[in-house]
Amino acid sequence: MHKPKRKPYVLPKQTIRNWNEALSAPQDIEIEIIETGKLYISNRLFLNMRHPNAKGIKKEKLTVPVYCYLIRHSFRGDYLVDAGLDRSFQDNTHGNIRGPLRKLFWPLCSYQENGQDIGARMRDKKVDLKGVFFTHLHIDHASGMQHLPKDISLVVGKDEPVQSLWPLYYQDNFAGVEALYEIDFESTNDLSPLGKCADIFGDGSFWAIPTPGHRKGHVSFLVNGKQGAYLITGDACDIKLNFDHGVGPGFGSFNSAQAQKSLERLRDFAHEHRQIKVYFGHEIP
Ligand SMILES: [Zn+2]
Repeated sequence: MHKPKRKPYVLPKQTIRNWNEALSAPQDIEIEIIETGKLYISNRLFLNMRHPNAKGIKKEKLTVPVYCYLIRHSFRGDYLVDAGLDRSFQDNTHGNIRGPLRKLFWPLCSYQENGQDIGARMRDKKVDLKGVFFTHLHIDHASGMQHLPKDISLVVGKDEPVQSLWPLYYQDNFAGVEALYEIDFESTNDLSPLGKCADIFGDGSFWAIPTPGHRKGHVSFLVNGKQGAYLITGDACDIKLNFDHGVGPGFGSFNSAQAQKSLERLRDFAHEHRQIKVYFGHEIP
């Protein structure tokens, strides 16, 4: 299984100091939602059932969409946030995940319809893709990479590992990719209540927000466009119920306490700026 080198992602000069400053100057950037399939999944994987606020939520299985987003900046070009499910999920609920422990480490069913994969969608829309920013590297967010160009910039949060336990459980999503570029938030400005956030293009249009916990290097994003501001939580908040109850992500998270803090920061931010539309990891209200 191929593991790309890690290199630092070079950020432009960070000048914006707070969210009011950013949100009062929206830019020419748009977001399109792309659904690449569905998951049939236990809600314990989405909600930390041990949290006191989860009392009363019953355990059940849910069918939810798998999203990624096309981000279109007027002159920086087209980028994706996440790559969704790959085409192998059209034939098999475990796709081309390999290894004897695949059912243990991927305890859900994943589906994709013909033509729904990200490669087909990028061709249909005639997108000239410049790069992909990943919220994290779980399979439902990264496996579509199998159908995307290898020579574009691929960006992750610092220390976000590829999800694999070779040779027991793996999927070769970055074959042919030379490097993954990591965002290090150390040099960015502190934008309360979200902490140090990265102004990706330096114009306040597109932000990376560190939300570790579900995964070590999990990142959420904000698109600050003239048609509206959109918070892409990724799996720092899988569904609306996480937000409504103030309950962090569920079973299998890298660090539940850290994930809870990340969720609370996103929630505080969304409550302070009610004009922002929130796109949850697996639910768009
Ligand atoms: Zn995930």
